[in-house]
Amino acid sequence: MTAQTAPQPAEGLRQHLAEAMAQEAGSLAFRKTGTEWEHPRSVWLARADAAVNALHRWEQQGTIFRMCTIPSCLRELNIAQPERGWLQSSSVGYMCPDHGPLLWGDADDPRDRHVPAWRQVSTGARLCCSCGWDAGPTLFRNHGTVLWQAHVLVMLETMETAA
Ligand SMILES: [Zn+2]
Ligand SMILES: [Zn+2]
Repeated sequence: MTAQTAPQPAEGLRQHLAEAMAQEAGSLAFRKTGTEWEHPRSVWLARADAAVNALHRWEQQGTIFRMCTIPSCLRELNIAQPERGWLQSSSVGYMCPDHGPLLWGDADDPRDRHVPAWRQVSTGARLCCSCGWDAGPTLFRNHGTVLWQAHVLVMLETMETAA
């Protein structure tokens, strides 16, 4: 037992993940030392790199909390442990259990719902709402989302007045 007395390079998350994943899968890659295990080890390390990169991207986006896409709403979703009832749209983000049913709910006629989707038109992509609304040409990143948020704020106000 002399090898372990010398200082070792700090292993970090990558090594830890690779070993944990290999063990979980029943692989002996990190328990055997023979050179024939170098390839399996490198495969597990590559998977660990992918996982670490995904975690970094997640971190760079800020926190694991996401706000409801309705600007006046303060509800937050913990994307690590999603609460029931939250909905998600790739065009505009997350909607809380209050606003989701109201705007994306089960009205039979899609025109009574406000489900956004990007559509290709001759001049590029355009954010359209299932109710028939259309964002028109957009000028910057997220412009369509901002316009759609303004559109549904008006719709919510109309619903409230009607109720
Ligand atoms: Zn909300
Ligand atoms: Zn709409």
